[in-house]
Amino acid sequence: MPSSRPQQRIPVLTWHGYNVFGDRYDNNDLIAFAADLRVIDDAGFAVVPLVEVARWVRGERNDFADLAGGARPVVALSCDDGTDYDWRNVIHPEHGAQTSFAESIRSFQRERPGQQPALSLTSFVIASPSARRQIDLGAMAGQGALNDDWWQAANASGLMPIESHGWDHNHPTVSPVVQREQRSGDFFAIDTFAECDMHVRAAANYIDSRAGRRPSLFAYPWTQASGYMRYRYMPTVAEPLGTIAAFGGQSDYLTRDSDRWYLPRFVFGPDWNSRDSLLALLDGAC
Ligand SMILES: [Zn+2]
Repeated sequence: MPSSRPQQRIPVLTWHGYNVFGDRYDNNDLIAFAADLRVIDDAGFAVVPLVEVARWVRGERNDFADLAGGARPVVALSCDDGTDYDWRNVIHPEHGAQTSFAESIRSFQRERPGQQPALSLTSFVIASPSARRQIDLGAMAGQGALNDDWWQAANASGLMPIESHGWDHNHPTVSPVVQREQRSGDFFAIDTFAECDMHVRAAANYIDSRAGRRPSLFAYPWTQASGYMRYRYMPTVAEPLGTIAAFGGQSDYLTRDSDRWYLPRFVFGPDWNSRDSLLALLDGAC
């Protein structure tokens, strides 16, 4: 599958660790992730850090040979919402003991040492402690699984960089939300300086204080971004403060022409749900 032409299209793959509805590949993102790591590796792809792919889009990097151990096609990995399932082996109330993304990375590395020297999974976390408590109670049956006490260890491990998914996800279970009219459930509604500044600057400050490193990437909740946020706030305010790219929008590959403030990703479930559909997606990058 790998071709000798320089790669023009890079897939970014995303999972949600709390999507645990059973113990099979197709109904458990944690199980899917562990299997997908091996599919990616078998297909000859190198996993590179998401931030390096953002730098490639920005023209700050030409190839990934230094990270990939040669001229291999690359893919980057991310997970959203920052539940404890990313880092810890959580006992799910219905489906029992689960293997975290981080633990699956370590198992893969033991099984295939040296095979993926730059392997990492970027975790986009929700900053506000109050919002996380309310989302946990309102949308996760009070599992107590939206903590921030693991962010520092995750960052320090090199396996799981912690990046920003905004202040409160403008989530319908949260009150009050940052949105000025309390219109939640829609991230397009975040379209003033004050709102964007809470979601980007204040969130980055909090994440920095708990994770030990200021985030440089942002993932828009529900992949939505207002014109103000995308075209004004991000380039004029967020970028000088250290944000280099933001993810949102369509299911698609990244290219050198992608908008750095609206980079596409692929999501497990809607965009692939089997080994074959993942292989087809990877094949589309070559
Ligand atoms: Zn989210």
